[in-house]
Amino acid sequence: MSECKRRRMIAGNWKMYKSQAETRAFFEAFLPLVADVTDLDIVVAPPYTSLGVAVDLADGTNVGVSAQNLDWRKEGAFTGEVSAVMLKDAGCQYVIIGHSERRQYFGETDSGVAQKTKAALDAGLTPIVCVGELLQDREQGRTEAVLSQQFIGGPGSLTADEFSRILIAYEPVWAIGTGKVATPEIAAAAHRFLRQCVAEQYSAEHAAAVRILYGGSVKPENIQGLRAQEDLDGALVGGASLDAKSFADIVKCK
Ligand code: PEP
Repeated sequence: MSECKRRRMIAGNWKMYKSQAETRAFFEAFLPLVADVTDLDIVVAPPYTSLGVAVDLADGTNVGVSAQNLDWRKEGAFTGEVSAVMLKDAGCQYVIIGHSERRQYFGETDSGVAQKTKAALDAGLTPIVCVGELLQDREQGRTEAVLSQQFIGGPGSLTADEFSRILIAYEPVWAIGTGKVATPEIAAAAHRFLRQCVAEQYSAEHAAAVRILYGGSVKPENIQGLRAQEDLDGALVGGASLDAKSFADIVKCK
């Protein structure tokens, strides 16, 4: 596969945590800790209600703001939903799509992930599209089959041009919020497999260029080993991104 320098990203997924005041306190503590970081993209994904505060505080800094979900439709009578256009209007640059919690608790499907990803791109957002196997998939030797299915049905259904504007997050479900991080070798093998899927669906150039983040119990204590894997382009961090110091330690890991 051709060599290609990919810019790393560390993204924090806050899930359903933090009030507006807590968001403000986080940014006031976090921004000075990472102010000198220039070699990677830093992203924070607060809940909808804190997006405005986050966008205001991140304005003019090296931190981008992401939403955690969207509705693929532009507008309409869809009570409780928020569209990609609205997220863009609110100042978001990124959106997480297809997180395993959305698949598990809200019935998201691969085709829904594809629709949302297209809507995000159309609105000018950069999607971070999540894929990952369950523990039972891994135990039954089905990891690659599941990743392949999620890839083909989701991001793999984009056009080649669309695909070049997304990131993928490999998040083994058994590692999310469990404290059970994948070994660097397990993560790297999955990333290599996903790149192979990209090469088959698009091209070797797309496979070499796409940024793939690892997610699942990333902490300051384990980021070093993951960081050393050349197929990993950064991390999507849940729990450890809620604390300014621990998230900054992950961002600043060399
Ligand atoms: C996540 O929510 O995407 C995640 C990886 O969570 P955690 O880091 O807490 O496992």
